[in-house]
Amino acid sequence: MQYQYSLEFAQTMDAQDALAPLRHHFHFPVINSQEARYFCGNSLGLQPKATESALLQELNDWKNWGVEGHFNAKNPWFPYHKFLTDSLARIVGAQPSEVVCMNTLTVNLHLLMVSFYRPTKERYKIIMEAGAFPSDQYAMESQARFHGLNPDEAIIEIAPREGENTLRTEDILSAIEMHKDSLALVMFSGVQYFTGQRFAMKDIAAAAHAAGALVGFDLAHAIGNVELNLHDWDVDFAAWCSYKYLNSGPGGVGGIFVHERHGNSPDLPRFAGWWGNDESTRFEMKKGFRPAKGAEGWQISNAQVFQMAALRASLDVFDKADFSSLAAKRDALTGYLEFLLAKVIADFPALNITIITPHDLHERGCQLSLLANSNGRELYNYLTNNGIIVDWREPNVIRAAPVPLYNSFEDVYVLAESIRSYAKEIL
Ligand SMILES: *Cc1c(COP(=O)(O)O)cnc(C)c1O
Repeated sequence: MQYQYSLEFAQTMDAQDALAPLRHHFHFPVINSQEARYFCGNSLGLQPKATESALLQELNDWKNWGVEGHFNAKNPWFPYHKFLTDSLARIVGAQPSEVVCMNTLTVNLHLLMVSFYRPTKERYKIIMEAGAFPSDQYAMESQARFHGLNPDEAIIEIAPREGENTLRTEDILSAIEMHKDSLALVMFSGVQYFTGQRFAMKDIAAAAHAAGALVGFDLAHAIGNVELNLHDWDVDFAAWCSYKYLNSGPGGVGGIFVHERHGNSPDLPRFAGWWGNDESTRFEMKKGFRPAKGAEGWQISNAQVFQMAALRASLDVFDKADFSSLAAKRDALTGYLEFLLAKVIADFPALNITIITPHDLHERGCQLSLLANSNGRELYNYLTNNGIIVDWREPNVIRAAPVPLYNSFEDVYVLAESIRSYAKEIL
């Protein structure tokens, strides 16, 4: 694409963008009585305008029906989790029976580890990326300890090469091959939260299986952001949260994927609860857990209806666009941000900013991570004071995620121009 550094160009791109009207389905925070330029959809997605009425519907049904709402509410609570299944299955590239909406991300990781990390004397290692999101590190570490293992021996972390910021796929694959005799599980993120790097999930899954191990992905930063084909990639399991790119609101409900070859194995060990029991006998209240088929057999508790109602309001917006159009806009927006930043950095080398997210479109989603070697915190504060919401990750990274559902080319232009104004002011 031939980009230009001008507001007119950005506005022309917006005028030609068939997805631009989707922006009007969201509320934007207001700073200094102006709509903020919001780049934190990778952390907490914006509120869809339909969320409020979706929640009110459930509040009213509860008010009017009490317990009868389980069956008589407009959207009956008893099967509520099922209302989300088709949209989620489409977003992660799964069959509907392979996904279910439940709990929260780290809880789900633990529950899936119960089934898919069962170390033996020979096979006990977990391969993951170095610098994974802390919750994932703690989860893996405590899982290893739970099985009586020393995490330092059981967990193999793959780090970028000296002087590099992101991982090379070849290094991930060769580490898997190297540990193949002792490897139980490859547990990676789909998109790395800090660097924005998208991993080669299909290749990683194939390598893990060739090594005789299972493979799981944490899709926190991948779901709703990048194309996923979990079923065809033959991934064993995955978990995600929904408050980032899926816009379900703070503490939003998570979800899981379990490949059908495992979903229909009732003997697979798991931590059970009544909601995972076969529906036809759930209310017989008898002894003897009989797992439901598919991912639903991993549910423990009844549906978190308010959280799910909020998620549904957002998935309805996703359902208005096909994912390939969103992906094309994502690449155009993020590519534009990269183009503009390169100009600013070239004009003000003393800004000392490096984009650490890979340039290759297959290796990123919408987020760009800017390594600010000096004055990073000050730049972040400057942007915030000017109505631009990005985020700051210690020790020195500003993350900005133009989200194709609601960000515009003008948003991206304004972000780059503000970085330029900051540079003019201080340099
Ligand atoms: C956001 C995020 C989490 C958050 O976990 P919760 O259990 O939802 O609090 C975990 N892991 C990764 C990789 C994340 O990006």
